[in-house]
Amino acid sequence: MHIHIFTLFPQMFQGPFQHSIVDRAKNAGLVEIHIHDIREYAHDRHHVSDDAQFGGGSGMVMKPEPIFEGVESVLADLTQLEMARTRVILTSPQGRLLNQNLVKELSQQLHLVLICGHYGGVDERIKQHLITDEISIGDYVLSGGEPAAIVVTDAVVRLLPGAVGSVASVQGDSITSGLLQHPIYTRPARFRQWEIPEILLSGNHLEIERWRRQRSLERTFRCRPEMLGKVRLTSEELLYLKTLGYKGNP
Ligand code: SAH
Repeated sequence: MHIHIFTLFPQMFQGPFQHSIVDRAKNAGLVEIHIHDIREYAHDRHHVSDDAQFGGGSGMVMKPEPIFEGVESVLADLTQLEMARTRVILTSPQGRLLNQNLVKELSQQLHLVLICGHYGGVDERIKQHLITDEISIGDYVLSGGEPAAIVVTDAVVRLLPGAVGSVASVQGDSITSGLLQHPIYTRPARFRQWEIPEILLSGNHLEIERWRRQRSLERTFRCRPEMLGKVRLTSEELLYLKTLGYKGNP
């Protein structure tokens, strides 16, 4: 996969992709991340990439020309087949909310182009004529799209086959599995006065699995009850949830 990030602040990406799973995925050849400085596509002497808003109002607006030119130069190198698996994404608080389903969809592409807005945002013609998707990472406003591009990249890359050690560990993640994950512990078994649940030392894998599933159901019921309506539950699991007060989804 190729991820192209268009930004006014390329230095903001120096740390996040040089560590951990994203770095390993790069080294294993699973992903190439290209950081493009939008200013390099602004051809006036001062590389101006933003301007005042037509009609008045505060907040500079990012100009269309450099962003169109930069993104189109990336797209120009793609074959038609590659284009069919390419998404041009504007990070924006107005976009479709990022969730694990969308992350999965993005992880199946060959090329992702991520445009980072800044200041008041980008010229509307970028939305109308350049992008395929507008994505928000949550209902709050960032000062720029860079943290959003980092979030999207991280979540997508860890789904690329081979990026994370075991597929099972990805599938068992909170949200991905449809539920929140059960509690997890590591050594020491006793830390200060707090001991881990005895069942985890029992060696009885069936019972451990049952315990984990119940904790997972319980946690989901307490913190994110709306998720229970979307997951397939056995009758035993439903019975268990009812003992906690779950009344089923309307
Ligand atoms: N005035 C704009 C917000 C600009 S915030 C509006 O009301 O829509 C500046 C930039 O930060 C945006 O262009 C976008 O790229 C990024 N950004 C802000 N909040 C975001 C969010 N929740 N998700 C993704 N990107 C966001």
